[in-house]
Amino acid sequence: MSELLRVKGLKKHFPIYKGALFPKQVGAVKAVDGVSFSVKKGETLALVGESGCGKSTTGRTILKLLDPTEGQVFYKGKDITNVKGEELRQLRKEMQLIFQDPYASLNPRKTIEKTVTEPMKIFGIDKEERQKRLDRLMNVVGLDTYHKSRYPHEFSGGQRQRIGIARALALNPELIICDEPVSALDVSIQAQVINLLEDLQKEFDLTYVFIAHDLSVVHHISDRVAVMYLGEIVETGEVEELYNDPKHPYTQALLSSIPEAKPNQETDRIILQGDLPSPSNPPQGCKFHTRCPIAEEVCKHKRPVLKQIPGQEHEVACHLVKEVVEDIEPTHV
Ligand code: SF4
Ligand code: MG
Repeated sequence: MSELLRVKGLKKHFPIYKGALFPKQVGAVKAVDGVSFSVKKGETLALVGESGCGKSTTGRTILKLLDPTEGQVFYKGKDITNVKGEELRQLRKEMQLIFQDPYASLNPRKTIEKTVTEPMKIFGIDKEERQKRLDRLMNVVGLDTYHKSRYPHEFSGGQRQRIGIARALALNPELIICDEPVSALDVSIQAQVINLLEDLQKEFDLTYVFIAHDLSVVHHISDRVAVMYLGEIVETGEVEELYNDPKHPYTQALLSSIPEAKPNQETDRIILQGDLPSPSNPPQGCKFHTRCPIAEEVCKHKRPVLKQIPGQEHEVACHLVKEVVEDIEPTHV
């Protein structure tokens, strides 16, 4: 599989200002603080972490809805960090976003037809072709075409998310950032939408970055997982490898809260102490040390970098993982 997306040293800091008349920058929220990963064509990379860890900001920076503070984004081998104008417009066709909240992301005053065909209109697709695409899209997301003149409030949450998916597919994209697409839905509906996304991926050769706040929803759909904590990736790995043998204490804690993660093993639930520290004032050293159940003195002073576990497509940023304590040069998948 060839590489479709690469993110290199991405940072997004939001400045904090104080003073009403002559505001002065007094700090920054380090929402994304040096993130690197790549996504191969046709695969699903899950970005997982608690709310506020920077995963949505990472997604929006990739889509160029936000400008990065530092770092680069490559798409099909090309540096797109600074593309503008027509080039950016064309790029927008290929990269789409599915939103978390299908209630908020659909305009209540627009019919389904209008919602789904609008991006096509913007890109100059003629009326006949728009109608053809609309019918086909409704069909592939499992909605009856006679619904097209209806309004969002006439649909259930799951149906609205199907409409959001149809809209995201309207321009035949290659990459879709799915930003918690099922977290606002009833548990009974979540699996249907996940299955739909999987079917669509196979049928249309889509590549997904799938953002989620816990590991329970992504097991089934992901090929690889990247776990984020306070703006950084702390562990990445092939999905089964990461679920079966998590190395980072944070990943271990996230997994321990899913009862079905390891059905054959007695895993004790690891309860993390304290709250998520503020991304404007993250802890020194390992950012996780204030909550880590096994932290040692070194963790308070030295920031661990992501290191590859020899012979595996698995990386971890922790001083105490014995496989990576040797001085191996950091690599990024
Ligand atoms: Fe815990 Fe230290 Fe590893 Fe950080 S580096 S995860 S504090 S053991
Ligand atoms: Mg979010």
